[in-house]
Amino acid sequence: MSGAGAADGLADVVIVGSGPAGYTAAIYAARAQLRPVVIEGSVSAGGALMTTTEVENFPGFPEGVLGPDLMERMRAQAEQFGAMLVADDAVELALEGDVKTVATGDGATYRARSVILAMGSAYRRLGLEAEDRLSGHGVSWCATCDGFFFRGRDVVVVGGGDTALEEATFLSRFAARVHVVHRRDELRASRTMQARAFADDKITFVWDAEVTAIRGDDQVTGVELTDVRTGARRDLRTDGVFIAIGHEPRSELVRGRIELDAAGYVVVSGGTATGLPGVFACGDLVDSRYRQAITAAGSGCSAALDAEHFLAMSA
Ligand code: FAD
Repeated sequence: MSGAGAADGLADVVIVGSGPAGYTAAIYAARAQLRPVVIEGSVSAGGALMTTTEVENFPGFPEGVLGPDLMERMRAQAEQFGAMLVADDAVELALEGDVKTVATGDGATYRARSVILAMGSAYRRLGLEAEDRLSGHGVSWCATCDGFFFRGRDVVVVGGGDTALEEATFLSRFAARVHVVHRRDELRASRTMQARAFADDKITFVWDAEVTAIRGDDQVTGVELTDVRTGARRDLRTDGVFIAIGHEPRSELVRGRIELDAAGYVVVSGGTATGLPGVFACGDLVDSRYRQAITAAGSGCSAALDAEHFLAMSA
């Protein structure tokens, strides 16, 4: 390795994370001649879309595009303009002062004048064997992304908070029937969301129940429900399972170093600025609300422009 982006030099910008936010930041930073270093992650380069099949709502792809293909294109675009891609995890960050450092799992340390955090957020999982296997084949964490595929079908939504009811209400536009499976006998969701869901005659509730298995070989065909009070099990036929039990922003690396909100999302202001000069954050790491590839890409662009402005002003 050599040059400004190398482990022994001083880079203009190091980007941590390789989803739509990180790669878009890399494309913009590279085209601005900032020669960004992208710490992509060792096993999950490409981010959340690597675990899905068809993406139909990313502009520019009228026929849809496979999630991994879309991410490969973003990666190639970043590389083509000169981004240096590092297939490793950032394991330690020092973000204060004029020179920041990012240490990676293989023992390298990258020094940079600015850092863009784009580590994304993980959807909480049920922990079932079929969950990952059938992701994109009936199992989903995003009604906005996948609801359209379930026109006239039966779906299950797992969860009892605002997100679960928002997903259920949104899905009822497409689905024939929506079963909300909740492990308690009352919802955590706001009264307004509850009222809307209760008034929707396509939505039914399965109380005091957990989804303990997802059925299907290459496509979801049903779920096993277990009554949490009696332990009784039964099968429910369904075409889709939407898991809405929360998100975990991947902010562990910066906990205690920059401001996080109560749910662990990085707090930004005036665009993508964190409280530390030269440190910017974008994508699902900062966004508990929209969580879409296009919004993550948009905020990755903003982070690169903010970093570029910071570097120009502090040169
Ligand atoms: P991510 O895509 O999560 O990428 C973050 C990356 O950073 C990951 O690769 C992660 O491993 C890496 N990382 C984390 N920590 C470190 C570290 N310490 N060192 C190095 N790397 C690190 N959105 C849509 O718009 N349309 C869809 O159809 C759609 N379908 C989806 C289907 C599924 C199954 C899922 C899970 C999500 C879907 N989404 C969809 C949502 C979309 O994928 C996310 O909103 C988007 O990927 C967020 O981008 P991001 O760059 O912020 O984070």
